[in-house]
Amino acid sequence: EFRHGEYSEVAVPTPNGVVTFGQNHPLVIVAGPCSVENEDMIVEIAQVVKATGAQFLRGGAYKPRTSPYAFQGHGESALSLLAKAREVTGLGIITEVMDTADLEKVAEVADVVQIGARNMQNFSLLKKAGATGKPILLKRGLSATIEEWLMAAEYILASGNPNVILCERGIRSFDQKYTRNTLDLSVIPVLRKLTHLPIMIDPSHATGYSEYVPTMVKAAIAAGTDSLMIETHPNPKKALSDGPQSLTPAEFAELIAEITPLLQFF
Ligand code: PEP
Ligand code: MN
Repeated sequence: EFRHGEYSEVAVPTPNGVVTFGQNHPLVIVAGPCSVENEDMIVEIAQVVKATGAQFLRGGAYKPRTSPYAFQGHGESALSLLAKAREVTGLGIITEVMDTADLEKVAEVADVVQIGARNMQNFSLLKKAGATGKPILLKRGLSATIEEWLMAAEYILASGNPNVILCERGIRSFDQKYTRNTLDLSVIPVLRKLTHLPIMIDPSHATGYSEYVPTMVKAAIAAGTDSLMIETHPNPKKALSDGPQSLTPAEFAELIAEITPLLQFF
């Protein structure tokens, strides 16, 4: 039962301590590469993410690629590499599950389980992911209305799991020539009115270009987001997926330094 002005929190235990997503908590920063490529790169980027003060490492083991011929992620072996990065840095781990068959393995390593945009309405996956009891990061579908998105969240809540974070990652619009998607930042005030659930903004998938990420990060902070997801890669030009939208370690560190003084106002 949602009453206006009352917001829920999603408290996630990590080796470095409990991190809480919610209106009355500090901004949570989730960063990392699109895909876990090998041990060296994931440990290296995890250390960068940790050094900036971010709380979660996010990297894909199972990747929902548009083309079946594109890199699909290393799967189970990448999960072990995420576990290694967690052990080295103490960061919480967020990674996507695409198939109910992989849920158990993913939930073993992930502190938060991601459901990607393409699976937002995969109702059996939503129910089973919810039933693991792990906090769920639910990305908005490519062309999902806010109502469809909230109903997808209901599937998880109805499975008895109250720990859902809603992630806006850009939606389809009529002009996708200059950006990959259209970041719908107006969801922040709208969701505040409609739901108590914490909000995450992903400017990386929303814009598709690293040069636009810092501006949209600042806009999302000004609009009151509870958390951010920012793709970072040790060498974006060589990334196996989503290189063009990934920040270098130096760009990521610079962005965090730039936003840190702003946080006191929001
Ligand atoms: C991702 O987070 O790497 C991803 C594939 O995102 P989305 O599901 O939003 O496209
Ligand atoms: Mn990606």
